Amino acid sequence: MKKYQMFIGGEFVDAAGGATLETLEPWSGKAWASIPRGGSDDATRAVEVAHAALTGPWAGLSASARGALLRKLADLLAHAAGDLAEIEVRDNGKLLTEMRAQTGYLPEIYHYFAGLADKIEGRVPPVGRPGVFGYTRLEPVGVVLAITPWNSPLLLAAAKIAPALAAGCTVVHKPSEHSSASALEFARLVKEAGFPDGVFNVVTGLGNEVGASLVANPKVARISFTGGGGAGRAINQIAAARFARCDLELGGKSPNIVFDDADLEVAVNGAVSGIFAASGQSCIAGSRLLVQESIHDAFVERLLKIAGNAVVGEPMEAGTQIGPVTTAEQFSKVLEYIDIAKGEGAQCVLGGEKLDRPGWFVKPTIFTGVNNGMRIAREEVFGPILSIIKFKDEEDALRIANDTDFGLAAGVWTKDFGRAFRMSEKLQAGTVWVNSYRMLSVTMPFGGMKDSGTGRENGIDAIMANLEAKSVFLNHSAPVANPFVMKL
Ligand code: NAD
Repeated sequence: MKKYQMFIGGEFVDAAGGATLETLEPWSGKAWASIPRGGSDDATRAVEVAHAALTGPWAGLSASARGALLRKLADLLAHAAGDLAEIEVRDNGKLLTEMRAQTGYLPEIYHYFAGLADKIEGRVPPVGRPGVFGYTRLEPVGVVLAITPWNSPLLLAAAKIAPALAAGCTVVHKPSEHSSASALEFARLVKEAGFPDGVFNVVTGLGNEVGASLVANPKVARISFTGGGGAGRAINQIAAARFARCDLELGGKSPNIVFDDADLEVAVNGAVSGIFAASGQSCIAGSRLLVQESIHDAFVERLLKIAGNAVVGEPMEAGTQIGPVTTAEQFSKVLEYIDIAKGEGAQCVLGGEKLDRPGWFVKPTIFTGVNNGMRIAREEVFGPILSIIKFKDEEDALRIANDTDFGLAAGVWTKDFGRAFRMSEKLQAGTVWVNSYRMLSVTMPFGGMKDSGTGRENGIDAIMANLEAKSVFLNHSAPVANPFVMKL
């Protein structure tokens, strides 16, 4: 069994208390590695070294030199992408093809933010006072705490780490206890790239132990969290109590809307990959499929043909199309939601049970006859469960789509250009796809409305979340009067 250590202050170390956690393969349920179970001492140490690094050699580097380090890291990642993908599959059970695509994209993310490092510029606003010159400086906020989930470990971490380092911040990363191995391999590459010690640290362990200690540390200036709404709310409250910055990328119950004028062959592919890719364990999963009533039955028939023939199996095998869910807890939750949906009167037209084999496999499941008030349509399941809801027309589709607590993403399938624009404008979601689904780019802002979170990652502006603006007024020639001498 592989034994991993945490990365603090440029060194690989065990937890101060020596405790460990096992990390399990989702298709066998067997432990394949151990990671340190960090505690409050480890959290304090990591934040202290990250805080000290803010005024060390890192602060003395030019912005271009920071960019060069990030570019070096990007090149090392390009070399290691294949190995990192296999490690992520062992932890989260997603398909090797999907994890390869994700780790293969990492270099682009680091290169993108490397390019922004030396384009962080202040301004010279018109102060409006003769003899006074005003300018702004953009300074790193300080220690950034990046907390990430298990479903896309290094991809989601990159959206936090790359802009924070480009901005000159230091970082403590707390990966999910279910998928820490790739984060620790990544730390090796950060060291190899030559970042000064303490600039980047990885602390592993449970969210309510080491995670909570990190969040509570007053030397953490900013928290960037991706995960569930429960943890997000708790973290946000703690951050608010000490006015720390906090950005949250949370869950979704995204509508994928198929109009009767859509290219149905393409739309059906989009509907299937929208929910069954990653076994539905994606924050942007198109878990509510809204289908116009005039094409409902024909569309469901097409859907069943594709989803019904999907090969469910081990994620490392080339022919597998749907893998297991990642954790035992997630497995029970998904099965529970299947019972809830059946109890609510939804019709199960595909799957609806676990696979008879070891590991956490749930058959791809489709429910028809769902109405938007049912729990299966309102709550995030995070599994391979699709709820199909009928709608009459554009107005009805919009009403149903927006009638949700979430606002992360939405899909629209139509050939009508006007409708595509109208829907994109009115859908309450951070990302809208027209005639596609699950498309992301480091150049496009990503984040949610409503209960799906706050803030945006990716894109040029993502770097601003890691910067403080400072206004400097330089009086070179204006008179400074004695305020107590009154001129009559
Ligand atoms: P989770 O909230 O249980 O855990 C996420 C991370 O937070 C883990 O590292 C965990 O250890 C840590 N954590 C948990 N409680 C904490 C606490 N009190 N203090 C500090 N850290 C704590 O989520 P998960 O089960 O790992 O991931 C699934 C969730 O993530 C889903 O709801 C999904 O929608 C969401 N998600 C959102 C996005 C997005 O970008 N919007 C992307 C992927 C996943």
